[in-house]
Amino acid sequence: MWADLEPIGRDPGTGGYRRFAWTRTDHDLREWFAGECAARGLDVVEDRAGNQWGWWGDPDTTPGVVVGSHLDSVPDGGAFDGPLGVVSALATVDALRARGIEPDVPLGVVNFVDEEGARFGIACAGSRIITGALDADRARGLTDADGVSMAEAWRSAGRDPATLGRDDEALRRVAAFVELHVEQGKALAVATDGGDDLTDPARAVAIGTDIWPHGRWRIDLPGEANHAGTTRMADRRDAMLGLATVVQAARSYAVALGCVATVGKVHVVPGGVNAIPSHVRAWLDARGEREEAVRAAVDAVSEEAARFGATTAEESWTPTTTFDTGLVERLHGILPDAPLLGTGAGHDAGVLATHGVPSAMLFVRNPTGVSHSPSESAGVADCHHGVMALTAVVTALSTGKAAEPAGEHR
Ligand SMILES: [Zn+2]
Repeated sequence: MWADLEPIGRDPGTGGYRRFAWTRTDHDLREWFAGECAARGLDVVEDRAGNQWGWWGDPDTTPGVVVGSHLDSVPDGGAFDGPLGVVSALATVDALRARGIEPDVPLGVVNFVDEEGARFGIACAGSRIITGALDADRARGLTDADGVSMAEAWRSAGRDPATLGRDDEALRRVAAFVELHVEQGKALAVATDGGDDLTDPARAVAIGTDIWPHGRWRIDLPGEANHAGTTRMADRRDAMLGLATVVQAARSYAVALGCVATVGKVHVVPGGVNAIPSHVRAWLDARGEREEAVRAAVDAVSEEAARFGATTAEESWTPTTTFDTGLVERLHGILPDAPLLGTGAGHDAGVLATHGVPSAMLFVRNPTGVSHSPSESAGVADCHHGVMALTAVVTALSTGKAAEPAGEHR
């Protein structure tokens, strides 16, 4: 499966992937997915957002257990973010059959469309559309960098955008969703003593417990435009000075309060090399395990900014997304050695969990923690541990039988 996927949407220069929704590359990935499902005798159906579901058994008689992830990527993304979950889900079907296990409830393999939002700017668009979290009209009107709307992209892909929308029927078929994903940090690669350990099999796979609270804030710093050569230092009102303080404060308060904060985008007016900045607009992204810590860090940064006359406006805030407690407990019972891990990244499993679909995640160790980059990686042995863990989970959830003994996948 990896050999088939490897060339699709790969940039020959960087080695990174550009797999954007409803492009030719996306079409090739969808064809590949449908082919893999067909080869396994799974019935492929598409919901009203274009997410693909391959079913073993009929989910209209009894809701089923679903595994899978997404195949699209960020610009210049890595090979594993998304595809690891889809490949592992298909490999899990193979593993069940090799062991002669027939699920008592339908088993689904899903490929969520447009998870990264790289083309139309909204992450998890496929799951947000079917849950209604993203309004159908708004989705159809979203445009890409070339001004092409999602509705036009659908038409070019031979689809009718009028059919796009919330899909309760597709969601009713899902009794539980488990998304396996490459870890996008280093928690599993760092041993308890603080050093790197990539060999401990007990740290190859973690169980996701929740998605950290996260938000975005816009900070507007005022200044006064003037000549960079003739204005005395004492007479200047330089908006950039406030930004310097904001960037430093974001870092030091995040470290002090145990969260993460990033100023990754700024807009400088007038933006001339020889002009004193009259206005700087900066965006702060902050996330963390504890809502209070994130809030406290942002408040502290905003207070520092206020000393420069700046105003801070909240653009978005998502509280903690907790995965289904009962499902997480079951996963922990099936994989007792697996660490429990919260994550700072968003996922379709989080969107489904927020909508009330019992959902959880498994994370596979990432040796460097690098993600959203061509150098993202995962070890072959760890990927196998992931498949075995997913197989144990699916066996227990879909047959009620005890999972394979943990020793088998060591
Ligand atoms: Zn992903």
